[in-house]
Amino acid sequence: MSTNELMKKTFEIRDIDCANCALKIENEIKKVKGLKNVSIDFAKQKLYIDDIDNQMDASSLEKIAKKVESSVSIYDKEQVISEKHSWTLNHYSVLTGFVLLVLYLVIDQFIYSFKENVDLIMFIISYLFIGGKVILKALRNISKGQVFDEHFLMMIATIGAFFIGEYIEGIAVMLFYQIGEYFQDRAVNKSRNHIKSLMDLKPSVAHKFIDDEIKDVSPETLKPQDIILVKPGEKIPVDGKIIEGQTTLDQSSVTGESTPIEKTKGHEVLSGSLNINGSIKIVVEKTYQDSTVYKIIEFVEQNANKKAKTEQFITRFAKYYTPIVVGIAVLLAFLVPYIITLIRDTTYSIEFPIYLKRALIFLVISCPCALVLSVPLSYYAGIGKASKQGILVKSGSDLEQFSKIEHFVFDKTGTLTKGDFIVTKVFAEDKDYILKLASHAESNSNHPIALSILRAYKGSIESKDINGYEEVFGKGIKVMYQNKTLLVGNDKLLESENIEFKKSEDMHTVIYVAYDHSYIGYIVLEDEIKMSSKNTIDFLLKQNKKVSMVTGDKTSIAQDIAHRLGIKDVYAEQLPDDKRQVIEKLKTKGLTAFIGDGVNDAPVLMTSNLGISMGALGSDLAVEASDAVIMNDESDLLIDAIETSSLTRKVVIQNIILAAGTKFLVLGLGAFGLANMWLAIFADVGISLIAVIHAMSILKQRN
Ligand code: ADP
Ligand code: MG
Repeated sequence: MSTNELMKKTFEIRDIDCANCALKIENEIKKVKGLKNVSIDFAKQKLYIDDIDNQMDASSLEKIAKKVESSVSIYDKEQVISEKHSWTLNHYSVLTGFVLLVLYLVIDQFIYSFKENVDLIMFIISYLFIGGKVILKALRNISKGQVFDEHFLMMIATIGAFFIGEYIEGIAVMLFYQIGEYFQDRAVNKSRNHIKSLMDLKPSVAHKFIDDEIKDVSPETLKPQDIILVKPGEKIPVDGKIIEGQTTLDQSSVTGESTPIEKTKGHEVLSGSLNINGSIKIVVEKTYQDSTVYKIIEFVEQNANKKAKTEQFITRFAKYYTPIVVGIAVLLAFLVPYIITLIRDTTYSIEFPIYLKRALIFLVISCPCALVLSVPLSYYAGIGKASKQGILVKSGSDLEQFSKIEHFVFDKTGTLTKGDFIVTKVFAEDKDYILKLASHAESNSNHPIALSILRAYKGSIESKDINGYEEVFGKGIKVMYQNKTLLVGNDKLLESENIEFKKSEDMHTVIYVAYDHSYIGYIVLEDEIKMSSKNTIDFLLKQNKKVSMVTGDKTSIAQDIAHRLGIKDVYAEQLPDDKRQVIEKLKTKGLTAFIGDGVNDAPVLMTSNLGISMGALGSDLAVEASDAVIMNDESDLLIDAIETSSLTRKVVIQNIILAAGTKFLVLGLGAFGLANMWLAIFADVGISLIAVIHAMSILKQRN
């Protein structure tokens, strides 16, 4: 890991007041020297930075952010207090203003008719109660040189309404804006919490046995061999094995497997699974940091600061859109009435108020909130849905890629095939001896071949006999066994070490063994195609995607498997770096994804436009290199991911059309005097609400 990567930091960012504000804060933090890749994820409430000089912490960042948004707060990753959504001073103030106004109007109407200047004073008072916060914010931002924000627009529009004598309308616009904001905030927060809870696997407490007593400890403190109790309804805190009791586990958030599984004494249990009905005693096998749940959380929390293309586009759009609309509003208010006096027989003092009002309506409509709000939220919902299906996706941009990828390249072993090799033949003078040698060489490897050889070997492993272990990627293992060189791998490995041997004609995977510079014999292993592979490939081909297979294995096996699956393009006998070059080449022809089991695949995963690893949570390197992880071993989850990706994009586009369409329509109507303030307010907050609700529908819709 380079020092650069060590400086990647993630913070929690709270109380961002408007979607646009996130953008402002982001731009302000970008101004700091020594910071790179500054990005705020509005939906996840996260702030990502690359802090090259390691100079920033939460409080120094907060100071900078407060320059543009005084309400915002920034925390370290773990230390966020649960969010409370109680009423603030602003809410009470709005309510007071509203009650005052209604009382006054009722009295004025039915009991005692006040003079007109009393009316005006009362209107101003209730306006200040209702819009106080908005006005304060607008003024504060103007003093900081940040003019074009929604608070400013609302202030001008409503004060403008007062000037043309539309008091009630001015107040109502402010009132509806505040009510809209309130519901919008609630909707966004509810959605966030809902999605978060889908992805929340973190067990909060573990019940540990200490001298026959049970104590509640934090999962981070558990060590292997500790005994813990997991009650019904709780999540398993760390990976371990049941020593007492039996139960049904819901592993869906860990493996994506939706059918609950019966587990009893002697069974392994994965952290993050939900214990449905029985109490079980577990012996801890892995620390929290090594457990499955931690790896999943790490993956989702990683610096995934890549914003989706559409989201980038919307942010850029928002930056120009507001000033342009304000510019048009100014022209509409001042220039248009002047032009009209030139054409028609009328005076500026008659025309100006008419066009001023139209301009004010313009301003109310001009906030691009619905877009800025709903687009990131949609991606977040899509990621939440995918994770429910069993696919972890790092960022909105990665989710977007799923449906855009044109070429899917599959690894063979462990991806399309089970990687669950069975030793079918052993060719050597002493069959037990060759298995013993091979197993000792493989005892440190995670490769599917290694695991299978170890399974076939019945004896024990003397780890003190093994030295200088070296995994030659794509070839096999080189190791010192009892101080002599032992080679276990394919023909390329033996060739590169100049061992004399005869190549086997066997169709299946052949692993040769050479010890102390002489050839001992070979082992034949057979693999099976996974149930889901055919389905996945058929689906992709039907969608007119290109599909290829790339493997380090022999051409004959590769051809055979590819043929059975209907894959035409095969790249066999590829070392990991060759695989990378294949992807590099394919990438020039279109967006290319690589799907591998993560063993030896990190460089390839990283090179592809979308690197997907399967069941790879065991390998930190693969997880780091992937953009998405399929949590079980079946590639057909890819189908779900592609469908969720399309669905998300569809909703995003619908929201954009809806929001932008309504805005432009109402803007047009406004310019010709056909829209009033009410319609304007609806076009702003109403559409925002609808867009947020539509974004959340991603979670509910079945693919
Ligand atoms: P794939 O592309 O099919 O996933 P790999 O790149 O992981 O395959 O490995 C390619 C080839 O290298 C294997 O087919 C095998 O011949 C050899 N090999 C890799 N790792 C090992 C190992 N641990 N033991 C023996 N052979 C290995
Ligand atoms: Mg592999």
